[in-house]
Amino acid sequence: MDKVVALCKRRGFIFQSSEIYGGLNGFWDYGPLGVELKRNVKEAWWRDMLTNHDEFSVPPGAPQAFSMAGLDCSIIMHPQIWKCSGHFDLFCDHMTDCRETKRRYRFDQIRGRWVEYPRATQDERLKKFATTRFFLITDVDSPEAGLEDTIQRARKFFGRQYEKELKWQSEGLVGLTRNDHLGHVLAPEASEPGTLTEPREFNLMFKTIVGALGGADDAAFLRPETAQGIFANFKNVVDTVRVRVPFGIVQIGKSFRNEITPRNFTFRSREFEQMELEFFCHPKESREWYTYWRDRRYQWYLNLGLKRERLRLRDHDKDELSHYSVGTADIEYGFPFLDAGEFGELEGVAHRGDFDLRSHMDGKLARDSEGNLAVELGPDGKPRHAGSGKDLSYFDDQARERFVPHVIEPSAGADRATLAFICEAYTEDQQPDEKGDMQTRVLMKFHPRLAPIKAAVLPLVKKDGMPELGLELYRALKAAGIPSYFDQQGAIGKRYRRQDEIGTPWCLTIDGQSMQDKTVTLRDRDTLEQSRVPVSEVVDEIARRLRS
Ligand code: ATP
Repeated sequence: MDKVVALCKRRGFIFQSSEIYGGLNGFWDYGPLGVELKRNVKEAWWRDMLTNHDEFSVPPGAPQAFSMAGLDCSIIMHPQIWKCSGHFDLFCDHMTDCRETKRRYRFDQIRGRWVEYPRATQDERLKKFATTRFFLITDVDSPEAGLEDTIQRARKFFGRQYEKELKWQSEGLVGLTRNDHLGHVLAPEASEPGTLTEPREFNLMFKTIVGALGGADDAAFLRPETAQGIFANFKNVVDTVRVRVPFGIVQIGKSFRNEITPRNFTFRSREFEQMELEFFCHPKESREWYTYWRDRRYQWYLNLGLKRERLRLRDHDKDELSHYSVGTADIEYGFPFLDAGEFGELEGVAHRGDFDLRSHMDGKLARDSEGNLAVELGPDGKPRHAGSGKDLSYFDDQARERFVPHVIEPSAGADRATLAFICEAYTEDQQPDEKGDMQTRVLMKFHPRLAPIKAAVLPLVKKDGMPELGLELYRALKAAGIPSYFDQQGAIGKRYRRQDEIGTPWCLTIDGQSMQDKTVTLRDRDTLEQSRVPVSEVVDEIARRLRS
């Protein structure tokens, strides 16, 4: 992972936000190559969902043909949206502070191994804990810290003379639950146990004030997800573009969450982009649509180059499901910053029932004692958070039936997907240099459609008309809308390596032969195969390869 992060910085993919001021934790900037890569990821999603969608044919695996529409909603919306969606009351994490190190942790991310010290002791420091279990916590910032680190910490803490007495659990990490006795926990980097505070609830929404004279009543929130803008506009879309259920609405945009512990590069940021689809269907058909979208979304990542052995589709257990959901699956990737066998979420595909539309009609919903969804009432017997009062049901004029559609929501993170494609692309191989010595070559094996630069035009030398022919070719590629690069500086081997490192799939070399027969060498990044292509056919050839 360190190599990936270093390459991202060195080659201009991702920078720390506000770096010249020391950075701001949880915020990132995409550099000249990163912005292209992320745009390509979003474009691939938008194309798959909307631009290339044919509403008159049934896609493979789908129950029937359907329409799709796009939206771009505001980031700040009416505060009532977040009350009815449940975010105002429920979008919380638990945090705990270490009184000694002054560090803050997300409670569910504090993971530890226990160490038992069973013997009575004269050591004042250990006396009160002498027969109890300790959780020795691995550093939450480096979850790869394993058993060996725990053992080292235990030795340091108890002192080597007690080593024979110590027992540590070797079968892996255990999570803390709220009932664990925090007094017996040795926090990461702390020297004494019991320095963690009781976990406190913390709402993840960023607050802001609307209007120059705004007071507390004008508080608004930066959206923590793009989905709610889609629900709030459901009626607008139905009334204006005349879509019929089943249909989907898609949106790509920024979301904000005041994460307690942003970490793992861009994986958990405080500002990030989501790519969300809300798919509206008849309640009776929602299970079929759920399965369809879950499988289709999984396939999307495979099609763009993530390897099956690192990509996992994980159906949630019943007890993991949100209160409104009858089915949720996560699409997960084995990021290199995780322990072997661990996966991080790229996308959640949720069956949300009619929870969202009904909440925005009636007010915040909750389950009653029989498990049915009902409007949550406050102590005064009135709805706790009033809905819009607008009718968000749908009338099917062919079946003459009115219903509140069910929703299937594939919700993906553009930054996490981009990070997964970066991690997957990072490759090292051994290649001979000009002198025949083997050298490590770093290459980014991006899918050509995701690669920031598609072709590099490289005149072998800066004379004999080669730069001129090269520029001509470069301009023809640009005119055809193919992001390209022209480079005539330095040895050709070095120039190839520069392109390999940023993932350019094809290099086009202009050499002596080019000047005679008007052909160029087309070099493939992955196979290193070289073929000669007439200059006049290069643009079509690259365009063809990008389509295939
Ligand atoms: P996690 O459990 O990792 O916090 P989540 O289940 O809260 O994620 P969702 O609310 O389902 O995430 O959001 C949908 C998608 O948005 C996620 O799958 C992820 O790709 C992206 N996402 C969510 N939070 C973040 C974040 N802090 N930074 C980057 N991407 C995020």
